[in-house]
Amino acid sequence: AVTVDVLVGWLSAFRDAVHEHGAYLTELDSAIGDADHGANLIRGMDAVMAAVASPPEATGDLLKKVGMTLVTSVGGASGPLYGTFFLRMATASGDATSLDGPALLAGLEAGLEGIVARGKAEAGDKTMYDALAPALAAFSSSLDGGASLADAARAAAGAAAAGRDATEPMLALKGRASYLGERSIGHIDPGAASSALLLDSLAGALS
Ligand code: ADP
Ligand code: MG
Ligand code: MG
Repeated sequence: AVTVDVLVGWLSAFRDAVHEHGAYLTELDSAIGDADHGANLIRGMDAVMAAVASPPEATGDLLKKVGMTLVTSVGGASGPLYGTFFLRMATASGDATSLDGPALLAGLEAGLEGIVARGKAEAGDKTMYDALAPALAAFSSSLDGGASLADAARAAAGAAAAGRDATEPMLALKGRASYLGERSIGHIDPGAASSALLLDSLAGALS
């Protein structure tokens, strides 16, 4: 089951991943944005890990702390979007001290709904949604097919990476990259790349 410790392991792995790939995320954002996506997430995840150094007992309380910290420590688009993701996941998780596969999936889906409520992204707009939505669909169909939680998370990570790569030929219709119009074509979306890292970190934490 997904305990608070497992969730902290996920967050810690994501913090390590944004440090390791921060220069890459910033390079992607320098092509179609303002070259701060790596720095934004490094600042945010360092603040998150400090905030959860002595984690609360309930998964919802932990995830709420994560969301609040991201909203307050990361500026720009991605702070409120990732922050809302974790805040909605927190509400879905509530007082539970651990989550089974379907509960984890329900939390992730509530989080994605929060991103959509906040940013109005649709499939094909070239955003983090284009990595997250196929990932959660793969997670769901894997669980339905009887896969273990670890295997479902690995399938989700694979779908997120494919979703990230599929943003390259897209025309950006949301966020800063949309100001570039046709010039946004031919570059991977930075938020889709960081979302693929988020899912890869989850798969690692659940393995
Ligand atoms: P900013 O663009 O404010 O500098 P970041 O560089 O940290 O913020 O994050 C940019 C990423 O945020 C984009 O690559 C995209 O994936 C995501 N994004 C921007 N606007 C939206 C939106 N309306 N809905 C979903 N994701 C969005
Ligand atoms: Mg940026
Ligand atoms: Mg910015």
